[in-house]
Amino acid sequence: MTYLPEENRYVSMPYKRCGRSGLKLPAVSLGLWHNFGGVDQFENARAMARCAFNLGITHFDLANNYGPPYGSAEETFGQILRKDLSPYRDELVISSKAGWDMWPGPYGNFGSRKYLVASLNQSLKRMGLEYVDIFYHHRPDPDTPLEETMGALDFIVRSGRALYAGISQYSADETRRAASIMQEMGTPLLIHQPSYNMFDRWIEGDLLNRLEQEGIGCVVFSPLAQGLLTNRYLKGIPEDSRAAKPDTDLHRDEVTEETLSKVRQLNDLALRRDQSMAQMAIAWVLRNPVVTSALIGASHPEQITDVVGALRNLEFSTEELTNIEEILQG
Ligand code: NDP
Repeated sequence: MTYLPEENRYVSMPYKRCGRSGLKLPAVSLGLWHNFGGVDQFENARAMARCAFNLGITHFDLANNYGPPYGSAEETFGQILRKDLSPYRDELVISSKAGWDMWPGPYGNFGSRKYLVASLNQSLKRMGLEYVDIFYHHRPDPDTPLEETMGALDFIVRSGRALYAGISQYSADETRRAASIMQEMGTPLLIHQPSYNMFDRWIEGDLLNRLEQEGIGCVVFSPLAQGLLTNRYLKGIPEDSRAAKPDTDLHRDEVTEETLSKVRQLNDLALRRDQSMAQMAIAWVLRNPVVTSALIGASHPEQITDVVGALRNLEFSTEELTNIEEILQG
């Protein structure tokens, strides 16, 4: 049946300006790293994309190697566009990336112009798109001159293959250098995509300060620590969870008693705030004004609905924040 999105989809979602650019992003964005691959059920992936858009999530984040197999999340998203979302293309912010291993040989990894341009051409084909809204260099490359990598991003934007350029996983100093090169070329960096959650706070301090100074937006990935900062693991490791699956970055041995003890205490605090654990974790990353959007993943539509419920209460009292610090420090 033809998909008709909710008419009221723009009523409750806040949209925040990305750095000092003209582009606004939803407070919650959806990433397709897991559960949108060729090995996953298409109808579930489609239901998640529909659910997200119905809730006002306009930003969908991909990368060349999301799957498995590599490339298949972009193919899945291409199908979802064709079946449901293509009439709304101008209401969507679609991003992709290159920087990790993608194809064999010397031209399918890291940060050369050769790799970035070829990879984006492939991504566009897989999604059936003429352009992506944001194209990222996925991680710093220690060997390619930064001028070449940034030059490739500048070329990609000027050629119309992407509207904006971004970087991911760059340190504060690498970000400073990248921003300065891009500024000189006249294609300012729109956005940085770092990891950030209660268990992973490396961006606090140097990087967030740098992004604020440069006027670069910040979309934070894995705000739920891949599911650890939810109620998912409170009673063990469910068979359909990320930690139970082979070939993921969340391994069974990371679900430790020490971590779970913190999550249980955080969960109690969340319940006192009338929130789920996931909702409090999202509100917590969004408390920082430099953070533009929380980039979540999901395995079921209900999880997306739950997370978006976080937006009903984004405020923390000083006492709650202190309590969270105490729990995290153990
Ligand atoms: P999250 O930290 O949001 O983890 C998502 C997982 O949390 C889900 O798969 C699900 O686990 C669980 N979950 C989500 N919502 C709920 C809920 N309401 N209740 C209970 N459990 C829930 O993010 P990801 O690690 O998935 O990363 C998000 C996106 O960030 C990626 O898709 C990608 O776009 C981007 N990313 C970018 C990287 C980069 O280098 N730039 C690296 C990694 C991610 P389960 O599957 O077990 O149900």
